[in-house]
Amino acid sequence: MPHDQLMVTVLGSATPYATVDNPCSGYLVTHAGARIWVDAGSGTLAELQRHVRVDELDAIWISHLHADHSADLLTAYYALLFADIDVAAPIPLYGPPGTADRLAHFLTNGTDRSPVESAFAFHELHDGHRATIAATTLTSRAVDHGMPAFAVRIDTAEASLTYSGDTGPCAALTELAADTDTLLCEAESDEAPAVEPQVHHTPEDAADTARSARARRLVVTHVGRSMTPADAAERAADRLGRDVAYAAPRRAFTV
Ligand SMILES: [Zn+2]
Repeated sequence: MPHDQLMVTVLGSATPYATVDNPCSGYLVTHAGARIWVDAGSGTLAELQRHVRVDELDAIWISHLHADHSADLLTAYYALLFADIDVAAPIPLYGPPGTADRLAHFLTNGTDRSPVESAFAFHELHDGHRATIAATTLTSRAVDHGMPAFAVRIDTAEASLTYSGDTGPCAALTELAADTDTLLCEAESDEAPAVEPQVHHTPEDAADTARSARARRLVVTHVGRSMTPADAAERAADRLGRDVAYAAPRRAFTV
Protein backbone atom coordinates (compact mmCIF):
# COMPACT_ATOMS: atom_id res chain seq x y z
CA MET A 1 0.00 0.00 0.00
CA PRO A 2 1.56 3.31 -1.03
CA HIS A 3 0.60 5.09 2.22
CA ASP A 4 2.39 2.41 4.22
CA GLN A 5 5.69 3.05 2.44
CA LEU A 6 8.61 4.65 4.19
CA MET A 7 8.93 8.12 2.67
CA VAL A 8 11.29 11.02 3.21
CA THR A 9 10.39 14.55 2.15
CA VAL A 10 13.20 17.09 2.02
CA LEU A 11 12.17 20.21 3.94
CA GLY A 12 15.55 21.75 3.36
CA SER A 13 19.18 20.83 2.78
CA ALA A 14 21.12 24.13 2.68
CA THR A 15 24.26 24.70 4.71
CA PRO A 16 25.24 26.64 6.74
CA TYR A 17 22.38 29.09 6.24
CA ALA A 18 19.07 28.97 4.39
CA THR A 19 18.81 30.37 0.86
CA VAL A 20 15.73 31.96 -0.68
CA ASP A 21 14.60 28.60 -2.00
CA ASN A 22 16.17 26.12 0.41
CA PRO A 23 15.88 25.99 4.21
CA CYS A 24 18.64 24.40 6.27
CA SER A 25 18.65 20.68 7.09
CA GLY A 26 15.30 19.07 7.83
CA TYR A 27 13.30 16.07 6.65
CA LEU A 28 9.82 14.73 7.21
CA VAL A 29 9.89 10.94 7.47
CA THR A 30 6.52 9.20 7.19
CA HIS A 31 5.38 5.63 7.40
CA ALA A 32 1.90 4.19 7.87
CA GLY A 33 0.56 7.39 9.42
CA ALA A 34 3.62 8.06 11.60
CA ARG A 35 5.27 11.45 11.08
CA ILE A 36 8.78 12.19 12.28
CA TRP A 37 10.55 15.55 11.88
CA VAL A 38 14.23 14.76 11.45
CA ASP A 39 16.41 17.83 12.08
CA ALA A 40 14.90 21.27 12.55
CA GLY A 41 17.21 23.61 10.68
CA SER A 42 16.14 27.19 10.13
CA GLY A 43 13.28 27.45 7.67
CA THR A 44 12.12 23.86 8.02
CA LEU A 45 9.19 24.60 10.35
CA ALA A 46 7.55 26.59 7.56
CA GLU A 47 8.10 23.81 5.03
CA LEU A 48 6.93 21.17 7.48
CA GLN A 49 3.50 22.78 7.59
CA ARG A 50 2.92 22.03 3.92
CA HIS A 51 2.54 18.42 5.07
CA VAL A 52 1.64 18.25 8.75
CA ARG A 53 0.62 20.45 11.66
CA VAL A 54 3.19 20.68 14.44
CA ASP A 55 0.83 18.99 16.90
CA GLU A 56 0.38 16.05 14.52
CA LEU A 57 4.04 15.03 14.79
CA ASP A 58 4.74 11.68 16.43
CA ALA A 59 8.35 12.58 17.20
CA ILE A 60 11.21 14.96 16.50
CA TRP A 61 14.79 13.70 16.12
CA ILE A 62 17.76 16.11 16.20
CA SER A 63 21.23 15.08 15.01
CA HIS A 64 23.19 17.82 16.80
CA LEU A 65 22.77 21.31 18.16
CA HIS A 66 24.33 23.39 15.40
CA ALA A 67 21.86 26.06 14.30
CA ASP A 68 21.46 24.67 10.78
CA HIS A 69 19.97 21.50 12.32
CA SER A 70 18.14 22.75 15.41
CA ALA A 71 17.25 26.46 15.24
CA ASP A 72 13.58 25.93 14.40
CA LEU A 73 13.01 24.13 17.70
CA LEU A 74 12.84 27.62 19.17
CA THR A 75 9.88 28.67 17.06
CA ALA A 76 8.29 25.21 17.27
CA TYR A 77 8.26 25.75 21.04
CA TYR A 78 6.37 29.02 20.55
CA ALA A 79 3.94 27.28 18.23
CA LEU A 80 3.22 24.52 20.74
CA LEU A 81 2.80 26.69 23.83
CA PHE A 82 1.75 30.17 22.82
CA ALA A 83 -0.29 29.99 19.65
CA ASP A 84 -3.34 28.37 18.14
CA ILE A 85 -2.17 24.81 18.78
CA ASP A 86 -3.23 22.57 21.64
CA VAL A 87 -1.05 19.54 22.19
CA ALA A 88 -2.59 16.59 23.98
CA ALA A 89 0.85 15.70 25.34
CA PRO A 90 4.40 16.99 24.88
CA ILE A 91 5.91 15.82 21.60
CA PRO A 92 8.69 13.26 22.02
CA LEU A 93 11.98 14.93 21.11
CA TYR A 94 15.12 12.83 20.68
CA GLY A 95 18.30 14.89 20.73
CA PRO A 96 21.86 15.15 22.03
CA PRO A 97 22.42 15.47 25.79
CA GLY A 98 21.68 19.01 26.93
CA THR A 99 19.05 19.81 24.30
CA ALA A 100 16.41 20.73 26.89
CA ASP A 101 18.69 23.08 28.83
CA ARG A 102 19.97 24.71 25.66
CA LEU A 103 16.44 25.55 24.56
CA ALA A 104 15.26 26.56 28.01
CA HIS A 105 18.07 29.02 28.59
CA PHE A 106 18.31 30.38 25.07
CA LEU A 107 14.78 31.68 25.37
CA THR A 108 15.21 33.42 28.71
CA ASN A 109 18.87 34.44 28.28
CA GLY A 110 19.36 33.98 32.01
CA THR A 111 19.13 31.57 34.90
CA ASP A 112 15.35 31.18 34.53
CA ARG A 113 14.19 28.22 32.48
CA SER A 114 11.44 28.36 29.91
CA PRO A 115 8.97 25.49 30.47
CA VAL A 116 10.19 23.63 27.39
CA GLU A 117 9.15 20.30 28.93
CA SER A 118 5.52 21.39 28.44
CA ALA A 119 6.08 21.35 24.68
CA PHE A 120 8.58 18.52 24.26
CA ALA A 121 9.16 15.21 26.03
CA PHE A 122 12.96 15.08 25.91
CA HIS A 123 14.89 11.86 25.35
CA GLU A 124 18.68 12.20 25.33
CA LEU A 125 20.47 10.21 22.65
CA HIS A 126 23.48 8.02 23.29
CA ASP A 127 25.49 5.73 21.03
CA GLY A 128 23.21 2.79 20.24
CA HIS A 129 20.02 4.51 21.47
CA ARG A 130 16.84 2.88 20.20
CA ALA A 131 13.30 4.20 20.06
CA THR A 132 10.11 2.76 18.63
CA ILE A 133 7.70 5.19 17.00
CA ALA A 134 4.55 3.52 15.62
CA ALA A 135 5.83 0.78 13.30
CA THR A 136 9.33 2.26 12.94
CA THR A 137 12.49 1.71 14.94
CA LEU A 138 15.03 4.52 15.24
CA THR A 139 18.60 3.54 16.02
CA SER A 140 21.07 6.35 16.71
CA ARG A 141 24.87 6.16 16.59
CA ALA A 142 27.41 8.73 17.78
CA VAL A 143 29.37 10.08 14.81
CA ASP A 144 32.43 12.26 14.19
CA HIS A 145 31.53 15.95 14.07
CA GLY A 146 33.78 17.40 16.75
CA MET A 147 30.82 17.71 19.14
CA PRO A 148 28.01 15.42 20.32
CA ALA A 149 26.39 14.38 17.03
CA PHE A 150 24.35 11.42 15.86
CA ALA A 151 23.30 9.56 12.74
CA VAL A 152 20.00 7.69 12.65
CA ARG A 153 18.65 4.59 10.97
CA ILE A 154 14.89 4.30 10.61
CA ASP A 155 13.70 0.74 10.02
CA THR A 156 10.27 -0.58 9.13
CA ALA A 157 9.39 -4.20 8.38
CA GLU A 158 10.02 -3.52 4.69
CA ALA A 159 12.62 -0.77 4.33
CA SER A 160 15.31 1.30 5.99
CA LEU A 161 16.57 4.86 5.73
CA THR A 162 19.91 5.91 7.20
CA TYR A 163 20.70 9.61 7.67
CA SER A 164 24.25 10.70 8.41
CA GLY A 165 23.53 13.98 10.19
CA ASP A 166 26.82 15.90 10.01
CA THR A 167 29.92 13.74 10.30
CA GLY A 168 33.22 12.78 8.79
CA PRO A 169 33.50 9.23 7.48
CA CYS A 170 33.44 6.87 10.47
CA ALA A 171 32.87 3.22 11.34
CA ALA A 172 29.74 4.01 13.35
CA LEU A 173 27.98 5.45 10.30
CA THR A 174 29.10 2.61 8.04
CA GLU A 175 27.91 0.02 10.57
CA LEU A 176 24.60 1.81 11.08
CA ALA A 177 23.99 1.96 7.32
CA ALA A 178 24.81 -1.71 6.67
CA ASP A 179 22.59 -2.97 3.80
CA THR A 180 20.28 0.04 4.17
CA ASP A 181 17.87 0.84 1.35
CA THR A 182 18.61 4.56 1.20
CA LEU A 183 21.61 6.35 2.66
CA LEU A 184 20.99 10.08 2.98
CA CYS A 185 24.54 11.32 3.43
CA GLU A 186 25.96 14.78 3.85
CA ALA A 187 28.55 16.01 1.33
CA GLU A 188 29.63 19.30 2.80
CA SER A 189 33.30 19.34 1.92
CA ASP A 190 34.87 20.07 -1.43
CA GLU A 191 37.99 18.30 -0.24
CA ALA A 192 39.12 16.56 2.92
CA PRO A 193 41.14 18.77 5.31
CA ALA A 194 44.90 18.10 5.21
CA VAL A 195 45.45 18.43 8.94
CA GLU A 196 42.34 18.83 11.11
CA PRO A 197 40.08 15.93 12.05
CA GLN A 198 37.53 15.36 9.31
CA VAL A 199 34.06 16.41 10.48
CA HIS A 200 32.28 16.28 7.11
CA HIS A 201 32.13 14.04 4.04
CA THR A 202 33.27 14.98 0.55
CA PRO A 203 31.06 13.64 -2.27
CA GLU A 204 33.65 10.89 -2.81
CA ASP A 205 33.55 10.05 0.90
CA ALA A 206 29.75 9.73 0.68
CA ALA A 207 30.20 7.26 -2.18
CA ASP A 208 32.80 5.31 -0.19
CA THR A 209 30.53 5.16 2.87
CA ALA A 210 27.66 3.94 0.67
CA ARG A 211 29.86 1.26 -0.90
CA SER A 212 31.32 0.08 2.42
CA ALA A 213 27.82 -0.12 3.91
CA ARG A 214 26.36 -1.81 0.81
CA ALA A 215 23.63 0.86 0.70
CA ARG A 216 21.21 0.26 -2.15
CA ARG A 217 20.78 3.94 -2.93
CA LEU A 218 22.77 7.07 -2.12
CA VAL A 219 21.22 10.53 -1.81
CA VAL A 220 23.66 13.36 -1.08
CA THR A 221 22.56 16.33 1.01
CA HIS A 222 24.02 19.30 2.94
CA VAL A 223 26.27 20.19 -0.01
CA GLY A 224 28.75 22.96 0.81
CA ARG A 225 28.64 26.26 -0.99
CA SER A 226 31.87 25.71 -2.88
CA MET A 227 30.10 23.08 -5.02
CA THR A 228 26.83 22.94 -6.91
CA PRO A 229 24.46 20.14 -5.87
CA ALA A 230 24.67 18.71 -9.38
CA ASP A 231 28.48 18.60 -9.19
CA ALA A 232 28.38 16.92 -5.80
CA ALA A 233 25.94 14.26 -7.01
CA GLU A 234 28.02 13.70 -10.14
CA ARG A 235 31.27 13.37 -8.19
CA ALA A 236 29.66 10.84 -5.86
CA ALA A 237 28.17 8.95 -8.83
CA ASP A 238 31.53 8.84 -10.60
CA ARG A 239 33.13 7.36 -7.51
CA LEU A 240 30.31 4.91 -6.84
CA GLY A 241 29.76 3.86 -10.46
CA ARG A 242 25.99 4.33 -10.33
CA ASP A 243 23.37 7.05 -10.07
CA VAL A 244 23.36 9.29 -7.02
CA ALA A 245 20.48 11.65 -6.24
CA TYR A 246 20.54 15.04 -4.53
CA ALA A 247 18.21 15.96 -1.67
CA ALA A 248 16.67 18.94 -3.42
CA PRO A 249 14.21 20.96 -1.36
CA ARG A 250 10.61 19.67 -1.59
CA ARG A 251 11.75 16.44 -3.19
CA ALA A 252 10.16 13.29 -1.77
CA PHE A 253 11.69 9.83 -1.95
CA THR A 254 10.14 6.46 -1.37
CA VAL A 255 12.78 4.57 0.57
ZN1 LIG B 1 25.18 21.19 9.29
